[in-house]
Formats: sequence, C-alpha cells, structure tokens
Amino acid sequence: VRTGLAAELRALEGAQYGRYKGLVGRWEMPGGELLELVRGQSDPYAPPARVALHVPAQLAALPAELWRTATRRRALSSYLVRQAARTVRGEKALRVDAGGQEVLERSSCTVSGEDGSVTLRLGAALPGHGRRIDGREAERLLCRVLPRVVEQALRYAVLDAAEVRRFVETVEDSVTLRDVLPGLGLVGFVADGAVLPRRSGVDDRPATGGGVVPFASPDQLRVTVELPHAGTVTGMGVPEGVNLVVGGGFHGKSTLLRALETGIWDHVPGDGRELVVSRNETVKLRAEDGRRVERVDVHAFVDHLPDGSDTCDFSTENASGSTSQAASLCEAVEAGARVLLIDEDTAATNLMIRDARMQSLVAKDREPLTPLVDTIRSLHRDHGVSTVLVMGGSGDYLEVADRVVMMDAYRPSDVTARAHELAAVPTGRHAEAESFPGVVARVPDPSSLDAEVRGRSRIRARGEDVLSFGDHEVDLRAVEQIADPRQVTGIGLALELMVRRGLLDGRRTLGEALDLLDELLADGPTGPLLSIRDEDFAAPRRFETAAAINRVRGLRMLR
Ligand code: ADP
Ligand code: MG
Repeated sequence: VRTGLAAELRALEGAQYGRYKGLVGRWEMPGGELLELVRGQSDPYAPPARVALHVPAQLAALPAELWRTATRRRALSSYLVRQAARTVRGEKALRVDAGGQEVLERSSCTVSGEDGSVTLRLGAALPGHGRRIDGREAERLLCRVLPRVVEQALRYAVLDAAEVRRFVETVEDSVTLRDVLPGLGLVGFVADGAVLPRRSGVDDRPATGGGVVPFASPDQLRVTVELPHAGTVTGMGVPEGVNLVVGGGFHGKSTLLRALETGIWDHVPGDGRELVVSRNETVKLRAEDGRRVERVDVHAFVDHLPDGSDTCDFSTENASGSTSQAASLCEAVEAGARVLLIDEDTAATNLMIRDARMQSLVAKDREPLTPLVDTIRSLHRDHGVSTVLVMGGSGDYLEVADRVVMMDAYRPSDVTARAHELAAVPTGRHAEAESFPGVVARVPDPSSLDAEVRGRSRIRARGEDVLSFGDHEVDLRAVEQIADPRQVTGIGLALELMVRRGLLDGRRTLGEALDLLDELLADGPTGPLLSIRDEDFAAPRRFETAAAINRVRGLRMLR
C-alpha cells in the first residue's frame, strides 16, 4: 500500500500518458479508504481504467443487521451504489454502474459478509491533454471527487436510515415471498395493489397518472401470506399446472405476463412490482426465427419434415418461428425450468394451435407440427413443468387449462368454471399426441465453446443484448428475462468461468455443468466472475447463461 497519490499525480502533469500505468496498485487515502487502481488505461481512447474504492468497516459503520444475510447484502449494496452514482452525476469521466428497477447482484458494489466493509468498483477515464497526462484533473477526480463519494454515499452516518432499511426490507420480503411459493403450490404471486404497467416500452419505471389500475385479485385465486416486514399480504396466487390468461386485446394480458416474467428478480421500493414474484425456475419462451439450433430433440413438436431430417436430433442454422420456439422450450426444460411463460404476441401460432377445421383440411401426415395444446397437460402431469399462457385468440386451450383468468379493463377474474363448461361442448378437434416424451440431456463439446484466440479470451458484451464470442455474435434479444444490459457481460464471464474451470469436460451434460456453475457462484457470484475480469457486470441466472450457450453459432453437442 502506497501513500501520496495526490502528489504523485501532480508530479505526472504533462508526462507521457502511458505513465498512468505506474500507479496501478493500492493507495491509502487521507480519509481512511483505500483507492485501488486495478487496471490502468493505455491511451486516452482506450477503455477507462478500473478503480476500486475499499471502505473499511469502521469508516462505513454499517449496522450488522443490514449485512447479516446474502439477501440483505445484495440489497444494501444496491442501495449504496445508487447513492454513489448520484454523487458523481455530471462527472463524465466516472462510470458508476447503478442499475435500474431490479435489485441485482452486481460487481459495482459489494458489502463484505465478514465485517461489513464496502467496495465500490467503477470505470474512470483518466484525463489527458492529448497523449500527455492531465495531472491536475486526475488529482481532482481521484483525490477529491472519489473521496467525496465515500464521504457522501458510503458511510452509514450520512445515509437516510429509514430509506436504507425500507430498501433492504423490501428486497427481503420479495425473496421470502418467492421462497414460500413452492410450499403453497404456486408458481407466481401478484400482490393486491401492485402497479404492473410501465411508463413506456423504453422506460421501466411504473406508469403514473389517473389511468393506472392497481392489481386486484379475483376471490377464487386470492391467497394470503405473512411476510417479515410487510406483514399480511393478499394477492393472486398463480397455481402450478396449466394457467391460461384470456381477454380482449389491450386489456392487460401481456402486462400481467411481463410482470411474472420479471418476478424472478427483486425490485426497488416504489417500483410497483415489489411483491410480484415468480419461481426462480421460470423461463419466458418466444419464437425466434433465424436462431441456430444444435442437436435438440424436438420430435414432440416437429416431426416428418419435408426434407426428411431427424427431429429427435435436430440442428439448423436458421430455425423457423415454430422450430425455434420448440427448441427453446426443450432447452429450457433441459436447463431445469419448472415454469414456462408464453405470450401469444410473440409465439409461433402454428406451434400453439391447430383447430378442427385445419385438422380436416391438412392431414396429420402432411403437417410436421404438433401444437403445444396437445402436450401441455403432460408437461405438467408427467414432467412437473407448469405453464402460464396468454392466449386471447383461440379457445382450444380452454379444455386443457386448469385455471383460466380473464383480464377485463386490467382487472382479472377467474373464469375457469365457465371455460370448462364451454370446453365440454365438442369442437371436433382431436388430440395429436398422448404425452410429452421429455427432453434429451446434451453434452457440450468444450472446444466449441472456447473463445480464446492466441491466449486471449474474445468473449465481450456488445451493446445491450449481443455477446461477441470469438468470431461469432450471440444474439440475446429473444432472451427476454435479461433485465439489465450488464447481465450480458455477466453471462460472458459465466461462460468463460465454465470453460476455464473445466465444467464443460466433454462428459458432463449441460444441466450438470450448470449445477456446478451454480455451486461455484453460490457464495455470491461477484468474486468468481471478477476473477475472470474486472468490469461492470450483473449476475445472470443459469437459464440466461444456458440460453447464450444454446445460441453460440459454433456450438457442438456430443450427446
Ligand atoms: P393485451 O396484452 O391484453 O393486449 P397489454 O398488456 O399489452 O394488453 O396492455 C395494453 C395497454 O394497457 C398497455 O399500454 C399497458 O401499459 C396498459 N396497461 C396494462 N395494465 C394496465 C393497468 N393495470 N393500468 C393501466 N394501464 C395498463
Ligand atoms: Mg398482448
């Protein structure tokens, strides 16, 4: 540990830019924090340097009850990093990755479970006059602005104690609620009073104004739960099984499904979805034509293709809407999904339904597709995989649904009884399958996932939803549960961790490798992922990581 960073920076005024590198290491700052220059910056146009501010426990002075559990630490660090970002607003050279409406585990801020010390990690574009060091400005940034961040955002004494507490308790309630779902036989819960609609398609904050209808559960589906902080809470329980959401267009069906989709993550106080949760193993599916598919057994949905290809072992460089959705469904179940969410707006119609008339017109042996309506019951009965389906356009699902919820002007009602009455009247449609046969566990070929080129990894996030992987790009736009662009970086690091630690060894199935990954990340994903590379990232789930693997263009499966 060195001292005298300010003097050092002053002395570097006008020196060659490259000499910033000599500052890499730990510096003790007058306020008592440690400033670590983790990675320098080679020239003014290179990616910003990485800085870590380590705030010792005595200086941060965070009460132990706020960082006792992993959940509380995640919430607390999320709160702290938002405060830190606020203090440096306007400082263009500093990048503090604070996140959005979700409270995710992220590298930008961590609180130690050992002593409650805080580490803030950020990017700092080191100032220069052309290729010369601007020592004065560097001194201002590193020795005045950053200490001010510690002073104004990372010490308990200056925080709004009630607000911190509310943040931590909100997240803890949400986690508790998610954890009690299985015991109640539920896959999701939407609290009464929740605000589901968002401000716009590009603004994830809650919608405001007189037109917003807060959620109100129908009597038949109302469930009461006790939470540690919110106390007694009522809301709509979404039961295990086959759930159908029906209703007229623009009546709020997709909004409800999207709330469940993001219910795998916790939300900040005031978001409106704090008590809207779904099981951790919930995966949203959609059609994604053009994606690659590598050796997936999709024969339950696709068979007798005109080109004669074997759909028990199906690969394509360019899937159609229906085959892509069939493959994504099988891959999700392979990765361990227990709940599938599908919206008619983004599903392939011909994979979802085929009515009686079409069955009469096109003989089964001329139609490769078996619609999901014929396997969806077996998916739950035989494989324990529940579904929540938005389907306003076809009544064929009424006979296979355990529950039917109708959205009417944003208000849900339980119309199961009426739906079953209607379903008792035959339509002349006949089932095209007896059961869902299950999925085949595939074994990834590790060499096909090694993106190293001359000893350097070439996995990098590109923009919001593309991961560049060696020479390929992995398009993650259809992986809708990625809640934050930094999770794309997290997925890249998780992939690299899997490769480097040999989790993919040419024998383990993808599911087994994902289990090992979860174990590696169980004590907090930040440490292991940071050991790959110091950058801003947010932790993904195994399902997002699996989705990325499945979309790597060069992926080979051994099976
Ligand atoms: P659907 O899928 O039934 O066609 P959407 O869920 O897309 O309908 O919702 C249609 C519109 O209504 C969207 O602009 C959405 O933001 C808005 N909306 C949804 N739920 C509510 C609500 N509870 N209160 C006010 N507006 C809502
Ligand atoms: Mg819709």
